[in-house]
Formats: sequence, C-alpha cells, structure tokens
Amino acid sequence: MRVLTRALAFALLLLLILLMVLVGRTLMLPSAQSVSTTPLAVTFTQQQVAAMSARLSTAIQHPTLTGEPAAFERFHAFLQQAFPLSHATLRRQTFGHSLLYHWDSGKNCAPTLLLAHQDVVPVSSPQSWQHAPFAGEIEAGYLWGRGTMDDKGSLMAILEAVESLLAQGLSPDCDVWLAFGHDEETGGTQGAARMAAWLLSQGLHFDMVLDEGGMVLPGETLGMESPVALIGIAEKGYISVTLRAEGGAGHSSRPPEQTAIGELARGISLLQDSPRAATLSPPTRLMLEQVAPWQPWAKRLVFANLWLFEPLVIGELASKPDTNALIRTTMAPTMLSAGVKDNVLPSSAEAVINFRLAPGDTQESLLRWLKATLPASVSASIRDGFFAEPSAISSTESAAYRRLSALAGTLPAKPVVAPFLLIAGSDARHYQALSDNVYRFMPVALEREDLARFHGANERLELAQYPVMVSFYAALMRAR
Ligand SMILES: [Zn+2]
Repeated sequence: MRVLTRALAFALLLLLILLMVLVGRTLMLPSAQSVSTTPLAVTFTQQQVAAMSARLSTAIQHPTLTGEPAAFERFHAFLQQAFPLSHATLRRQTFGHSLLYHWDSGKNCAPTLLLAHQDVVPVSSPQSWQHAPFAGEIEAGYLWGRGTMDDKGSLMAILEAVESLLAQGLSPDCDVWLAFGHDEETGGTQGAARMAAWLLSQGLHFDMVLDEGGMVLPGETLGMESPVALIGIAEKGYISVTLRAEGGAGHSSRPPEQTAIGELARGISLLQDSPRAATLSPPTRLMLEQVAPWQPWAKRLVFANLWLFEPLVIGELASKPDTNALIRTTMAPTMLSAGVKDNVLPSSAEAVINFRLAPGDTQESLLRWLKATLPASVSASIRDGFFAEPSAISSTESAAYRRLSALAGTLPAKPVVAPFLLIAGSDARHYQALSDNVYRFMPVALEREDLARFHGANERLELAQYPVMVSFYAALMRAR
C-alpha cells in the first residue's frame, strides 16, 4: 500500500514537472504584439500610380509563352521604352530571352539579386475567364490577365522601383542585380541556370537572393486571426519516375494470373498505402514555432512544445493535402498507358508518378524506397525531363532575413511573418550557390481562393497593392 502511494506521488510529481515545462515554454514565447513597424519609405501620387498600372497592363498584353520568341522580343522593346532611366543607367545582358541587369552602387558591399520571370503558362480554358487573358483589362480595382501575379507583377514592380529611385536621384545601398528568366515555368534550365552560371563565373556572392514563392495569406491558413507573410526559405525537389510492368501478351479469353495492368495497379496502390515518412523538416518546424504566439492557447502550448507533440502535429498536418505536402515527399500518379484493344492483353503497362521531394529526401533515397516497396514485377526508372533535388535551407538568423521579414511586417495587412517550405518550384533553386540567403516572397496579400488563379483562370492583381509592391522593392534596395 505504502509503495503504491509513493509510486502515485512520484507519478504526480513527474506530471507536475511536465506541466511546468510545457506551460513554461509556452509563456516564454515572444508576445504576440511584437510586430515590426519599419515604414515603407516610398509613396506615389495618384497620377504616378495610374501610369504604373497602365504599364503593367501593357506588360500583360505581351503573351510571353514558351516557344513564342517574337513575343519576348516585343516585350523587351516595351521594357526599354517604359523604363528609360533604368535602361540608361543599368548594364543589361541577355541570355537567350532572359535579361540580367546590373545597377552599380559604386560601393563595396555584398550585392542583392532580385529575381522574376517573364514567361507565363498557357491558358487552357479561355472560356472560363471573365476577361480575355492577354487583354490587360482593368475592372473593379483589379488588373486581369495571365501573368499579373505569376510573375510579371513582380518583374514590373522591381523595374518601377529602380526607375522611381533613379527619378529621385537615388542609388541603391549596395549593388543590385536583376535576373528575369524566360523559362521558369519549364524548369529554368535555359534562363535562370545560365544566368546563375555566369554570375558564379564572375565570382559574385550575394547578400540576398529574392524570388517569388511566398505571399501574405489570411491567418486562417495557419489557424490564427492575423494574416501571415510566408517567406520561403527552401523549396521541395522534383522528380518523375516511370513504373513499368511486363506481362504475357495474348488473348483476353485466357488471361494468366498476373497481367501487366494488374501488376502495375498493385504497385501504385502499394506505394500509396505506405507513403514516404512524414517529418517536421526545419522550415516547417520554424514556421510553427514562429506563429505559435498568435495561436489560441491550446495550440500555442502544442507549438511551443514540439519536442513532445510532434507526432500529434504531424497527424494533424497529414490530414489535409495542403499541409501534408509540407511534411513529406508526395507522390502523384499523373500518366498511365497500356493496351490497344479491349480483348487483347497488353505485354506492358506504364505509369508516370511525379514526386515532390521533401528536405532530407534525395533521388537516391527515393529510388531505394521504390525498390523496397514495389513488387518485383514492377520496375522504376527516372523519367527524362526536369529534375531537382530539394533546395538548400536558408537561414532565418541572417541579417538579410531580418531585413526582409521586418519589411514584410510593414505591409498594409500588418502580417505576422514566418518562414516556410515552398511546395512548388521556383527559379531560386538555380541560384543557391550564389548566396546563403535565398528567399522566396512576393509582397502581395491574397485571399485563399486567389491561389487557384495561379496557373488557373481569372488570374488578377489588386491594383491598390501594386504601388505597395513597388515601394517594398525600392525599400529593400535601400534598407542597408
Ligand atoms: Zn512563377
């Protein structure tokens, strides 16, 4: 009896200590009020805003689709005419249809590299657009069209920032380079990759590289009230694999026990039933820790104590496709082919699976897992085409990150700023050898439903945000 009481007392004591640790760590979180207040420096007159919006509208009217060289050439001529000071001052080089600009500050400090891409994805269903995708129409406070968000909004805002600083007789704090690729949507191998190789050959090392990727999103995305500015500090890798099963060809009236299609289907379902392990990689862990102070109390306790609650959090994140993609390598079967006639057994069947590699995974570890999981009757081989390992993870402790996040915190939405893992790809991956601080963020606030407009129908940009984007980039060039 006495032993039992003592054991119970000991258990209670342990529980009390655990509670104190949990609550203590929760209380140690920074207060939710500590939003930065660095003001965005540049402001514009109504007339200037109207002129900027008109230039962006014209930019949208150039259908810079891959395989349309004339559209890129006309777009370049338009840029030269729209930004005369920039083109008189900055040195411009071309790499195919990609554009690389250098703004010499005359000072000897690590330069900044701003990225954007000129190319846009094709329009698959023009009938579902409210406004013609390449008309650049302005209605109800929005500029409508393909490329407004992805990514000519940024490209034009960066040039507007340069032009407006030059018009005021200002120069950047340190050198600024601008790299505008022409094939981001198809992997960036002809544009970003070549510009990055050239910059590397010049021995350049950048204080910061900034590309598209994160944005300001409604807080509900992360279960809180304040909007959240997500800065991508890493991006997932990309690899497509062909699965192939062989089987005896012949008449479908006497099928063997194993058929090519049946084996392929079994292979795919085995992979889906045992997905790649889920983990909180550093970007996702940092994101949760960063937004913890703004969470309701129970969640704050959980996020402040990931050492204990990690399995619980992973379970919750795994329950939705959007967040599941943050914690593991995902697999998406995207193509399937076998058979030519309803009564003939095909001798082989093939499927293509697109994997997005999470940090920590590699092509090699994925292939090992495929070999171990697939039945012997199904082979896996890497498909020709675009491939990328997961990117390096950039620091959230650097001066560059602090500068960028402070600036993001001053956006009109007054967002909480947090790092995150970009689940899509960007040109930024090509530049990781050029800087320890490669970030992915576009200074624009979106509603959740706007995300479907990327690569989808009715892409648009709220024009009230456009001058804010311009002043954001201008402030970034003068923030040191
Ligand atoms: Zn893009």
